[in-house]
Amino acid sequence: MSKKRLLFAASEVYPFAKTGGLADVAHALPKALTERFDVDVVMPLYQSIDREQYAIRPIGEKFEVSMGNAAYEVQLFGCTYQEVRYRFVYSPLLCEREFLYGPPHSGYEDNALRFGIFNYALLAMMQMSEYAIAHLNDWQCALVALLLHERPEIHTRTLFTIHNLAYQGTFPSEILSDLGIDEKYFTMEGIEFYGQVSFMKAAIAYADAVTTVSPTYAKEILTEEFGCGLEGFLRAHRKKLVGILNGIDTEHFSPQNDTVLLTPYSDLKGKRINKSDYLKSVSLKGINKPLFVFIGRFTGQKGMQILIDTLPKLAGLECNVAILGEGEESYREEVEKLAHAHRNVYFHFGYDEVQSHRMYAAADFLLMPSLFEPCGLNQLIAFAYGAVPIVHHVGGLIDSVKRFEKFDPDAKNGFGIAFERPSERACLHAMAKAMDLYQDKKLYNAIVKHNMNCDFSWTESAKVYADLYDTLSR
Ligand code: ADP
Repeated sequence: MSKKRLLFAASEVYPFAKTGGLADVAHALPKALTERFDVDVVMPLYQSIDREQYAIRPIGEKFEVSMGNAAYEVQLFGCTYQEVRYRFVYSPLLCEREFLYGPPHSGYEDNALRFGIFNYALLAMMQMSEYAIAHLNDWQCALVALLLHERPEIHTRTLFTIHNLAYQGTFPSEILSDLGIDEKYFTMEGIEFYGQVSFMKAAIAYADAVTTVSPTYAKEILTEEFGCGLEGFLRAHRKKLVGILNGIDTEHFSPQNDTVLLTPYSDLKGKRINKSDYLKSVSLKGINKPLFVFIGRFTGQKGMQILIDTLPKLAGLECNVAILGEGEESYREEVEKLAHAHRNVYFHFGYDEVQSHRMYAAADFLLMPSLFEPCGLNQLIAFAYGAVPIVHHVGGLIDSVKRFEKFDPDAKNGFGIAFERPSERACLHAMAKAMDLYQDKKLYNAIVKHNMNCDFSWTESAKVYADLYDTLSR
Protein backbone atom coordinates (compact mmCIF):
# COMPACT_ATOMS: atom_id res chain seq x y z
CA MET A 1 0.00 0.00 0.00
CA SER A 2 1.39 3.41 -0.88
CA LYS A 3 2.03 5.87 1.92
CA LYS A 4 -0.37 8.75 2.50
CA ARG A 5 0.93 12.13 1.47
CA LEU A 6 1.62 14.68 4.19
CA LEU A 7 2.28 18.36 3.69
CA PHE A 8 4.16 19.67 6.73
CA ALA A 9 4.23 23.48 6.67
CA ALA A 10 6.27 25.75 8.91
CA SER A 11 7.74 29.23 8.67
CA GLU A 12 11.18 28.05 9.82
CA VAL A 13 13.00 24.76 9.55
CA TYR A 14 16.50 23.89 10.71
CA PRO A 15 19.08 24.06 9.07
CA PHE A 16 17.61 26.45 6.48
CA ALA A 17 16.27 29.13 8.85
CA LYS A 18 15.91 29.08 12.61
CA THR A 19 14.92 31.56 15.30
CA GLY A 20 13.76 29.05 17.91
CA GLY A 21 12.39 25.64 18.77
CA LEU A 22 9.84 25.55 15.91
CA ALA A 23 12.72 25.14 13.45
CA ASP A 24 14.08 22.18 15.42
CA VAL A 25 10.67 20.52 15.53
CA ALA A 26 10.00 21.13 11.83
CA HIS A 27 13.33 19.49 11.05
CA ALA A 28 13.12 16.50 13.36
CA LEU A 29 9.44 15.49 13.41
CA PRO A 30 9.05 15.03 9.62
CA LYS A 31 12.26 12.97 9.63
CA ALA A 32 10.67 10.66 12.17
CA LEU A 33 7.46 10.45 10.09
CA THR A 34 8.92 9.43 6.73
CA GLU A 35 8.61 5.73 7.54
CA ARG A 36 4.82 5.98 7.64
CA PHE A 37 4.11 9.01 5.41
CA ASP A 38 5.25 10.48 2.14
CA VAL A 39 6.27 13.89 3.47
CA ASP A 40 6.83 17.29 1.86
CA VAL A 41 8.16 19.86 4.32
CA VAL A 42 7.24 23.32 3.02
CA MET A 43 8.66 26.69 4.09
CA PRO A 44 9.39 30.11 2.58
CA LEU A 45 12.63 30.47 0.62
CA TYR A 46 13.99 33.44 2.61
CA GLN A 47 16.86 35.39 1.06
CA SER A 48 19.17 34.20 3.86
CA ILE A 49 18.88 30.56 2.73
CA ASP A 50 21.94 29.37 0.83
CA ARG A 51 20.49 27.76 -2.31
CA GLU A 52 23.85 26.40 -3.48
CA GLN A 53 24.78 24.79 -0.19
CA TYR A 54 21.59 22.71 -0.14
CA ALA A 55 21.23 22.30 -3.93
CA ILE A 56 17.85 24.03 -3.87
CA ARG A 57 16.45 24.07 -7.42
CA PRO A 58 13.30 25.47 -9.08
CA ILE A 59 10.40 23.06 -9.58
CA GLY A 60 7.86 23.57 -12.35
CA GLU A 61 6.73 26.86 -13.82
CA LYS A 62 6.11 30.08 -11.96
CA PHE A 63 2.45 30.64 -11.12
CA GLU A 64 0.29 33.34 -9.62
CA VAL A 65 -1.79 33.28 -6.49
CA SER A 66 -4.68 35.72 -6.26
CA MET A 67 -5.29 37.22 -2.88
CA GLY A 68 -7.83 40.01 -2.52
CA ASN A 69 -7.58 42.14 -5.62
CA ALA A 70 -3.90 41.45 -6.25
CA ALA A 71 -1.92 38.64 -7.84
CA TYR A 72 1.46 37.52 -6.52
CA GLU A 73 4.00 35.53 -8.49
CA VAL A 74 5.18 32.33 -6.83
CA GLN A 75 7.93 29.89 -7.75
CA LEU A 76 8.35 26.57 -5.98
CA PHE A 77 11.82 25.22 -5.26
CA GLY A 78 12.96 21.91 -3.83
CA CYS A 79 15.75 19.82 -2.42
CA THR A 80 16.30 16.67 -0.42
CA TYR A 81 18.16 16.95 2.85
CA GLN A 82 18.88 14.02 5.16
CA GLU A 83 16.44 11.95 3.11
CA VAL A 84 13.56 14.37 3.67
CA ARG A 85 11.92 16.17 0.73
CA TYR A 86 11.72 19.95 1.10
CA ARG A 87 9.63 22.38 -0.89
CA PHE A 88 10.25 26.11 -0.71
CA VAL A 89 7.83 28.87 -1.59
CA TYR A 90 9.49 31.85 -3.25
CA SER A 91 7.64 35.12 -3.72
CA PRO A 92 9.55 38.43 -3.54
CA LEU A 93 7.30 40.09 -0.96
CA LEU A 94 7.52 37.07 1.33
CA CYS A 95 11.19 36.27 0.92
CA GLU A 96 13.29 39.34 0.12
CA ARG A 97 13.86 40.53 3.70
CA GLU A 98 16.80 40.69 6.04
CA PHE A 99 14.90 38.96 8.87
CA LEU A 100 12.33 36.18 8.87
CA TYR A 101 9.61 38.09 10.72
CA GLY A 102 11.12 41.51 11.33
CA PRO A 103 13.95 43.25 13.18
CA PRO A 104 14.27 42.46 16.92
CA HIS A 105 11.11 43.32 18.93
CA SER A 106 8.92 44.12 15.95
CA GLY A 107 7.29 42.32 13.07
CA TYR A 108 7.33 43.68 9.52
CA GLU A 109 4.24 45.79 8.90
CA ASP A 110 3.20 43.69 5.94
CA ASN A 111 3.58 40.31 7.66
CA ALA A 112 -0.13 39.57 7.14
CA LEU A 113 0.34 39.91 3.39
CA ARG A 114 3.70 38.13 3.38
CA PHE A 115 2.37 35.07 5.19
CA GLY A 116 -0.97 35.41 3.42
CA ILE A 117 0.96 34.65 0.22
CA PHE A 118 2.58 31.67 1.94
CA ASN A 119 -0.87 30.33 2.90
CA TYR A 120 -2.28 30.77 -0.61
CA ALA A 121 0.79 29.08 -2.07
CA LEU A 122 0.23 26.12 0.28
CA LEU A 123 -3.36 25.97 -0.89
CA ALA A 124 -2.17 25.99 -4.51
CA MET A 125 0.13 23.05 -3.72
CA MET A 126 -2.86 21.14 -2.33
CA GLN A 127 -4.74 21.87 -5.53
CA MET A 128 -1.82 20.64 -7.65
CA SER A 129 -1.28 17.38 -5.76
CA GLU A 130 -3.43 15.38 -3.43
CA TYR A 131 -2.33 15.45 0.19
CA ALA A 132 -4.16 13.38 2.78
CA ILE A 133 -3.02 15.66 5.59
CA ALA A 134 -1.69 19.18 5.99
CA HIS A 135 0.12 19.71 9.27
CA LEU A 136 0.17 23.48 9.85
CA ASN A 137 2.48 24.99 12.43
CA ASP A 138 1.86 28.28 14.23
CA TRP A 139 0.06 31.37 12.95
CA GLN A 140 2.19 31.79 9.83
CA CYS A 141 0.33 28.95 8.10
CA ALA A 142 -2.90 28.99 10.10
CA LEU A 143 -5.05 30.61 7.39
CA VAL A 144 -4.86 27.46 5.27
CA ALA A 145 -7.45 25.83 7.55
CA LEU A 146 -9.93 28.61 6.78
CA LEU A 147 -9.10 28.72 3.06
CA LEU A 148 -9.74 24.98 2.79
CA HIS A 149 -13.15 25.52 4.38
CA GLU A 150 -14.06 27.39 1.17
CA ARG A 151 -12.70 24.62 -1.08
CA PRO A 152 -14.72 21.46 -0.40
CA GLU A 153 -13.26 19.91 -3.56
CA ILE A 154 -9.90 19.60 -1.74
CA HIS A 155 -10.06 16.65 0.63
CA THR A 156 -6.92 17.36 2.65
CA ARG A 157 -7.54 17.15 6.40
CA THR A 158 -5.77 19.66 8.63
CA LEU A 159 -3.91 19.47 11.90
CA PHE A 160 -2.73 22.69 13.48
CA THR A 161 0.01 22.87 16.12
CA ILE A 162 0.33 25.74 18.58
CA HIS A 163 4.02 26.07 19.41
CA ASN A 164 3.55 29.25 21.40
CA LEU A 165 0.20 30.89 22.04
CA ALA A 166 1.91 34.21 22.80
CA TYR A 167 2.47 34.71 19.05
CA GLN A 168 -0.93 34.75 17.37
CA GLY A 169 -0.53 36.77 14.18
CA THR A 170 -3.04 39.54 14.91
CA PHE A 171 -3.45 42.39 12.43
CA PRO A 172 -5.78 45.37 11.86
CA SER A 173 -9.15 44.39 10.45
CA GLU A 174 -8.58 46.38 7.23
CA ILE A 175 -6.31 43.56 6.08
CA LEU A 176 -9.30 41.23 5.62
CA SER A 177 -10.04 42.27 2.04
CA ASP A 178 -6.34 42.26 1.05
CA LEU A 179 -6.23 38.68 2.32
CA GLY A 180 -9.25 37.83 0.18
CA ILE A 181 -11.23 36.65 3.19
CA ASP A 182 -14.97 37.08 3.23
CA GLU A 183 -16.47 39.37 5.90
CA LYS A 184 -18.61 36.46 7.08
CA TYR A 185 -15.53 35.02 8.83
CA PHE A 186 -14.99 38.22 10.83
CA THR A 187 -16.97 37.05 13.86
CA MET A 188 -16.22 35.87 17.37
CA GLU A 189 -16.61 32.27 16.20
CA GLY A 190 -14.25 33.01 13.30
CA ILE A 191 -11.12 35.13 13.00
CA GLU A 192 -12.16 38.31 14.79
CA PHE A 193 -10.16 38.95 17.96
CA TYR A 194 -10.98 42.17 19.83
CA GLY A 195 -11.65 43.98 16.56
CA GLN A 196 -8.56 42.57 14.85
CA VAL A 197 -7.87 39.67 12.53
CA SER A 198 -6.23 36.68 14.21
CA PHE A 199 -4.49 34.08 12.03
CA MET A 200 -4.21 31.73 15.01
CA LYS A 201 -7.99 31.76 15.52
CA ALA A 202 -8.55 30.74 11.90
CA ALA A 203 -6.82 27.43 12.55
CA ILE A 204 -8.28 26.83 16.00
CA ALA A 205 -11.74 27.33 14.48
CA TYR A 206 -11.35 25.44 11.20
CA ALA A 207 -8.57 22.84 11.54
CA ASP A 208 -9.75 19.26 12.00
CA ALA A 209 -7.44 18.81 14.98
CA VAL A 210 -5.36 21.14 17.13
CA THR A 211 -2.30 20.06 19.06
CA THR A 212 0.14 21.80 21.28
CA VAL A 213 3.59 20.78 22.32
CA SER A 214 3.09 19.29 25.78
CA PRO A 215 0.18 17.81 27.74
CA THR A 216 0.51 20.34 30.57
CA TYR A 217 0.56 23.34 28.21
CA ALA A 218 -2.58 21.92 26.55
CA LYS A 219 -4.32 22.30 29.93
CA GLU A 220 -2.69 25.60 30.86
CA ILE A 221 -3.85 27.42 27.73
CA LEU A 222 -7.45 26.83 28.76
CA THR A 223 -6.87 29.15 31.73
CA GLU A 224 -6.80 32.93 31.92
CA GLU A 225 -3.22 32.89 33.21
CA PHE A 226 -1.77 31.20 30.11
CA GLY A 227 -4.50 31.53 27.49
CA CYS A 228 -3.38 34.92 26.08
CA GLY A 229 -7.02 35.93 25.65
CA LEU A 230 -7.86 32.79 23.67
CA GLU A 231 -8.68 30.58 26.67
CA GLY A 232 -12.44 30.80 26.15
CA PHE A 233 -12.14 30.09 22.44
CA LEU A 234 -9.81 27.17 23.11
CA ARG A 235 -12.21 25.82 25.72
CA ALA A 236 -14.97 25.91 23.11
CA HIS A 237 -12.75 23.79 20.82
CA ARG A 238 -11.17 21.64 23.54
CA LYS A 239 -12.57 18.40 22.06
CA LYS A 240 -10.10 18.62 19.20
CA LEU A 241 -7.16 19.85 21.33
CA VAL A 242 -4.42 17.49 22.47
CA GLY A 243 -0.93 17.99 23.94
CA ILE A 244 1.92 15.93 22.48
CA LEU A 245 5.38 16.34 23.98
CA ASN A 246 8.14 17.46 21.61
CA GLY A 247 11.29 15.42 21.16
CA ILE A 248 14.71 16.35 19.82
CA ASP A 249 16.66 15.11 16.84
CA THR A 250 19.01 12.74 18.62
CA GLU A 251 21.32 12.59 15.59
CA HIS A 252 21.80 16.34 15.62
CA PHE A 253 21.93 16.70 19.40
CA SER A 254 24.29 13.84 20.08
CA PRO A 255 27.43 14.44 22.15
CA GLN A 256 28.94 11.23 20.70
CA ASN A 257 28.65 12.44 17.12
CA ASP A 258 28.62 16.20 17.45
CA THR A 259 31.21 17.46 14.99
CA VAL A 260 31.29 21.00 16.38
CA LEU A 261 32.65 19.72 19.71
CA LEU A 262 36.41 19.59 20.04
CA THR A 263 36.04 16.16 21.67
CA PRO A 264 32.80 14.26 21.07
CA TYR A 265 31.97 12.25 24.21
CA SER A 266 29.71 9.68 25.74
CA ASP A 267 30.88 9.75 29.36
CA LEU A 268 31.70 12.17 32.14
CA LYS A 269 35.43 12.03 31.42
CA GLY A 270 34.82 13.25 27.87
CA LYS A 271 32.44 15.90 29.11
CA ARG A 272 35.09 17.25 31.46
CA ILE A 273 37.48 17.72 28.52
CA ASN A 274 34.82 19.78 26.75
CA LYS A 275 34.23 21.82 29.88
CA SER A 276 37.92 22.54 30.20
CA ASP A 277 38.18 23.56 26.51
CA TYR A 278 35.14 25.78 26.75
CA LEU A 279 36.22 27.53 29.97
CA LYS A 280 39.59 28.31 28.38
CA SER A 281 37.95 29.62 25.21
CA VAL A 282 35.90 32.16 27.18
CA SER A 283 38.53 32.89 29.86
CA LEU A 284 36.61 31.41 32.78
CA LYS A 285 38.65 29.70 35.49
CA GLY A 286 37.97 26.71 37.75
CA ILE A 287 37.25 23.33 36.19
CA ASN A 288 36.09 22.02 39.59
CA LYS A 289 33.49 24.74 40.06
CA PRO A 290 30.01 24.09 38.63
CA LEU A 291 29.28 25.83 35.34
CA PHE A 292 25.75 27.24 34.97
CA VAL A 293 24.61 28.19 31.48
CA PHE A 294 21.64 30.01 30.03
CA ILE A 295 20.85 29.75 26.30
CA GLY A 296 17.76 31.40 24.89
CA ARG A 297 15.77 34.30 23.57
CA PHE A 298 16.00 37.44 25.69
CA THR A 299 12.28 37.88 26.27
CA GLY A 300 10.08 38.10 29.34
CA GLN A 301 8.84 34.56 28.65
CA LYS A 302 12.26 33.05 29.29
CA GLY A 303 12.41 34.49 32.82
CA MET A 304 15.05 37.08 31.93
CA GLN A 305 14.13 39.27 34.89
CA ILE A 306 14.57 36.38 37.30
CA LEU A 307 17.91 35.59 35.68
CA ILE A 308 19.05 39.21 36.01
CA ASP A 309 17.84 39.49 39.61
CA THR A 310 19.53 36.27 40.73
CA LEU A 311 22.76 36.63 38.75
CA PRO A 312 24.68 38.81 41.27
CA LYS A 313 23.99 36.29 44.05
CA LEU A 314 24.76 33.29 41.86
CA ALA A 315 28.00 34.94 40.76
CA GLY A 316 28.91 35.36 44.45
CA LEU A 317 29.05 31.56 44.81
CA GLU A 318 31.97 29.32 43.87
CA CYS A 319 30.80 28.78 40.30
CA ASN A 320 30.99 30.03 36.71
CA VAL A 321 28.13 31.31 34.59
CA ALA A 322 27.90 31.53 30.80
CA ILE A 323 25.03 33.20 28.95
CA LEU A 324 24.18 33.09 25.25
CA GLY A 325 21.18 34.81 23.77
CA GLU A 326 19.70 37.64 21.79
CA GLY A 327 16.54 39.68 21.95
CA GLU A 328 15.37 42.69 23.90
CA GLU A 329 17.92 45.45 24.25
CA SER A 330 17.09 46.28 27.88
CA TYR A 331 17.89 42.73 28.95
CA ARG A 332 21.08 42.82 26.94
CA GLU A 333 22.25 45.95 28.75
CA GLU A 334 21.49 44.48 32.18
CA VAL A 335 23.27 41.20 31.46
CA GLU A 336 26.22 43.03 29.93
CA LYS A 337 26.59 45.15 33.08
CA LEU A 338 26.52 42.07 35.27
CA ALA A 339 29.07 40.27 33.11
CA HIS A 340 31.39 43.28 33.45
CA ALA A 341 30.93 43.37 37.20
CA HIS A 342 31.65 39.65 37.79
CA ARG A 343 34.74 37.89 36.51
CA ASN A 344 33.02 34.52 36.65
CA VAL A 345 30.19 35.55 34.31
CA TYR A 346 30.66 35.27 30.54
CA PHE A 347 28.13 36.70 28.12
CA HIS A 348 27.79 36.42 24.37
CA PHE A 349 24.98 38.36 22.73
CA GLY A 350 23.85 36.79 19.50
CA TYR A 351 22.57 33.65 17.86
CA ASP A 352 25.29 31.03 17.54
CA GLU A 353 24.40 27.38 16.97
CA VAL A 354 28.01 26.14 17.28
CA GLN A 355 28.64 27.97 20.51
CA SER A 356 25.34 26.71 21.94
CA HIS A 357 26.39 23.08 21.37
CA ARG A 358 29.74 23.72 23.06
CA MET A 359 27.95 25.28 26.00
CA TYR A 360 25.57 22.34 26.44
CA ALA A 361 28.63 20.06 26.35
CA ALA A 362 30.50 22.12 28.94
CA ALA A 363 27.63 22.88 31.30
CA ASP A 364 26.99 21.24 34.65
CA PHE A 365 23.64 23.02 35.01
CA LEU A 366 21.25 24.69 32.54
CA LEU A 367 19.12 27.58 33.80
CA MET A 368 15.49 27.79 32.58
CA PRO A 369 13.50 30.16 34.80
CA SER A 370 10.79 30.54 32.09
CA LEU A 371 7.55 32.22 33.16
CA PHE A 372 5.72 29.93 30.75
CA GLU A 373 7.07 27.24 28.48
CA PRO A 374 4.93 25.44 25.88
CA CYS A 375 7.46 22.61 25.76
CA GLY A 376 11.04 23.85 25.76
CA LEU A 377 13.79 22.00 23.97
CA ASN A 378 16.79 23.33 25.88
CA GLN A 379 16.15 21.04 28.83
CA LEU A 380 16.00 17.98 26.54
CA ILE A 381 19.23 19.00 24.83
CA ALA A 382 20.77 19.57 28.27
CA PHE A 383 19.79 16.04 29.36
CA ALA A 384 21.40 14.58 26.25
CA TYR A 385 24.63 16.51 26.85
CA GLY A 386 24.79 15.73 30.57
CA ALA A 387 23.83 19.14 31.99
CA VAL A 388 21.25 19.11 34.80
CA PRO A 389 18.40 21.53 34.08
CA ILE A 390 17.18 23.98 36.74
CA VAL A 391 13.65 24.87 35.72
CA HIS A 392 10.59 26.77 36.80
CA HIS A 393 8.06 23.93 36.85
CA VAL A 394 5.58 25.09 34.24
CA GLY A 395 4.19 23.80 30.91
CA GLY A 396 6.38 21.26 29.14
CA LEU A 397 9.00 21.61 31.87
CA ILE A 398 6.61 19.79 34.21
CA ASP A 399 6.15 16.99 31.70
CA SER A 400 9.84 16.57 30.89
CA VAL A 401 11.81 17.38 34.06
CA LYS A 402 11.26 15.21 37.14
CA ARG A 403 12.55 16.37 40.54
CA PHE A 404 15.97 15.00 41.42
CA GLU A 405 14.79 14.49 45.02
CA LYS A 406 12.78 11.56 43.64
CA PHE A 407 15.61 10.24 41.50
CA ASP A 408 14.86 6.76 40.24
CA PRO A 409 17.53 5.20 38.01
CA ASP A 410 14.90 2.94 36.41
CA ALA A 411 12.63 5.81 35.37
CA LYS A 412 12.32 6.77 31.72
CA ASN A 413 12.37 10.51 32.49
CA GLY A 414 15.21 12.92 32.91
CA PHE A 415 15.78 14.47 36.35
CA GLY A 416 16.60 18.04 37.30
CA ILE A 417 16.02 20.78 39.85
CA ALA A 418 12.56 22.30 39.76
CA PHE A 419 11.06 25.31 41.53
CA GLU A 420 7.37 26.08 41.76
CA ARG A 421 7.11 29.86 41.80
CA PRO A 422 8.67 32.14 39.17
CA SER A 423 10.38 34.32 41.78
CA GLU A 424 13.92 35.42 42.56
CA ARG A 425 13.74 33.67 45.92
CA ALA A 426 12.60 30.33 44.54
CA CYS A 427 15.19 30.45 41.79
CA LEU A 428 17.98 31.26 44.26
CA HIS A 429 16.87 28.37 46.42
CA ALA A 430 17.10 26.08 43.39
CA MET A 431 20.57 27.41 42.57
CA ALA A 432 21.68 26.69 46.16
CA LYS A 433 20.31 23.16 45.79
CA ALA A 434 22.38 22.82 42.62
CA MET A 435 25.54 23.85 44.48
CA ASP A 436 24.85 21.17 47.11
CA LEU A 437 23.99 18.53 44.55
CA TYR A 438 27.23 19.26 42.72
CA GLN A 439 29.15 18.45 45.92
CA ASP A 440 27.33 15.13 46.22
CA LYS A 441 29.36 13.68 43.37
CA LYS A 442 27.89 10.20 43.60
CA LEU A 443 24.30 11.39 43.20
CA TYR A 444 25.15 14.14 40.71
CA ASN A 445 27.07 11.73 38.45
CA ALA A 446 24.35 9.10 38.69
CA ILE A 447 21.72 11.65 37.61
CA VAL A 448 23.83 12.93 34.73
CA LYS A 449 24.58 9.41 33.47
CA HIS A 450 20.92 8.48 33.76
CA ASN A 451 19.76 11.60 31.87
CA MET A 452 22.31 11.04 29.09
CA ASN A 453 20.93 7.53 28.52
CA CYS A 454 17.24 8.47 28.41
CA ASP A 455 15.39 8.57 25.11
CA PHE A 456 14.36 12.11 24.15
CA SER A 457 14.00 11.28 20.48
CA TRP A 458 10.83 11.81 18.45
CA THR A 459 10.14 8.07 18.19
CA GLU A 460 7.21 7.93 20.65
CA SER A 461 5.63 11.32 19.90
CA ALA A 462 5.95 10.86 16.13
CA LYS A 463 3.84 7.70 16.50
CA VAL A 464 1.15 9.72 18.28
CA TYR A 465 1.13 12.29 15.44
CA ALA A 466 1.09 9.53 12.81
CA ASP A 467 -1.87 7.83 14.50
CA LEU A 468 -3.67 11.15 14.65
CA TYR A 469 -3.07 11.77 10.92
CA ASP A 470 -4.44 8.29 10.22
CA THR A 471 -7.53 8.89 12.29
CA LEU A 472 -8.18 12.23 10.59
CA SER A 473 -7.72 10.94 7.06
CA ARG A 474 -9.54 7.64 7.39
P1 ADP B 1 11.84 28.90 21.89
O1 ADP B 1 10.75 29.40 22.78
O2 ADP B 1 12.88 29.95 21.66
O3 ADP B 1 11.38 28.26 20.64
P2 ADP B 1 12.82 26.26 22.66
O4 ADP B 1 13.36 25.78 23.98
O5 ADP B 1 11.63 25.55 22.14
O6 ADP B 1 12.58 27.82 22.80
O7 ADP B 1 13.96 26.12 21.55
C1 ADP B 1 15.09 26.90 21.58
C2 ADP B 1 16.09 26.36 20.56
O8 ADP B 1 16.87 27.47 20.09
C3 ADP B 1 17.09 25.38 21.16
O9 ADP B 1 17.59 24.56 20.11
C4 ADP B 1 18.19 26.34 21.67
O10 ADP B 1 19.43 25.67 21.83
C5 ADP B 1 18.24 27.33 20.54
N1 ADP B 1 18.72 28.68 20.87
C6 ADP B 1 18.06 29.64 21.54
N2 ADP B 1 18.79 30.78 21.61
C7 ADP B 1 19.96 30.52 20.96
C8 ADP B 1 21.12 31.30 20.65
N3 ADP B 1 21.23 32.55 21.05
N4 ADP B 1 22.10 30.71 19.94
C9 ADP B 1 21.97 29.44 19.54
N5 ADP B 1 20.90 28.64 19.77
C10 ADP B 1 19.90 29.18 20.47
